[in-house]
Amino acid sequence: MHSSQTAGRRHPEPPHPYRGPFQRDRDRVVHSAAYRRLSAKTQVFTGEMGDYHRTRLTHTHEVASVARTLGRSLALNEDLIETLALIHDLGHPPFGHAGEDVLDDCLKSVGGFCHNAQALRIVELLETRYPEFPGLNLSLEVLAGQQYRARKSLPSSRAGEGQEARCCLLEVQIVEAADSVAYDTHDADDALELNLLVLEELLETPLWAEAARRVGARYTNLDHGELRRAVLHELIEWQVSDLIEQAIVRIAAKPLSLSAAGKVGSENRDDVLIRPSDELAEQKTQLETFLFSRVYRHPDVLSHRAHAQDALRELFARFIRRPDLMPENFLRRIASEGLERSVCDYLAGMTDRFAHQVAVSS
Ligand code: MG
Repeated sequence: MHSSQTAGRRHPEPPHPYRGPFQRDRDRVVHSAAYRRLSAKTQVFTGEMGDYHRTRLTHTHEVASVARTLGRSLALNEDLIETLALIHDLGHPPFGHAGEDVLDDCLKSVGGFCHNAQALRIVELLETRYPEFPGLNLSLEVLAGQQYRARKSLPSSRAGEGQEARCCLLEVQIVEAADSVAYDTHDADDALELNLLVLEELLETPLWAEAARRVGARYTNLDHGELRRAVLHELIEWQVSDLIEQAIVRIAAKPLSLSAAGKVGSENRDDVLIRPSDELAEQKTQLETFLFSRVYRHPDVLSHRAHAQDALRELFARFIRRPDLMPENFLRRIASEGLERSVCDYLAGMTDRFAHQVAVSS
């Protein structure tokens, strides 16, 4: 995607004298309230569990960092990539996926809740930074990229008619791939630090075993901590190198025109050019299965999850009963957006900390 070929913005604006359109989009995201609040939102582990592990904001930076490396190596549009990376998790509610599940349940009758779609609501409606328009008025390519994420994450039962779209730009695919590199690596690292796992268990997964074998070819006599850090570096390096090598081969074998890239609704795996080799993909899946059962469903994680979900459910009920307790701008939007959706917008924007504070201040 060349910046000069952007389709523009919903509310037309004159070009900036020295920043390109996607550079400007990136800056708008960085200056938004929703972006700053990512610092106090859960990635996987909540704030009470320690201060080593990733937050939603540091995860976002790891994704942006990996994505820019991939993009620069493949001569893609780095400004667009960075913007897409910075908004990709902007719609996460407090308490990560635990919070998302509660809000989705509370909003069942009005279309449910999904963090990927919520990111679009934030940048198109909920951020109030400009007198001329709601939202951030980002470039249409950025919105299309996030729409692709949102459609992909819908269960097929909810993906309605007219939802088809062209398979997305390579810049969008890069961010998807970088997200996976980041969480597969850092969730294991965080779990080790929190003693939810021990290194030996992870080394039994094929992905970690292979990374450790590669590290062993370069170093001998590493202590536990050195080995763990070396394996983490190797995992990122290996995944990123694999993605670049695979992308070069696939891009060379396929015309780059968007029209050739197929439809999202019936997404053909071959349409996605930025993806790992089959062998690495298989090993990543095995790691994810392991992490799911051993980390995401760990009793400590589940107990924090249950506590957070109770708090959020109670908050939803409270503001449905007393919408007048919400800030003015959420109250005002009830007329156009409906009561449930407006309460959800308010709750989803909260940080973990603020949600807990409001929950105990009944
Ligand atoms: Mg993410």
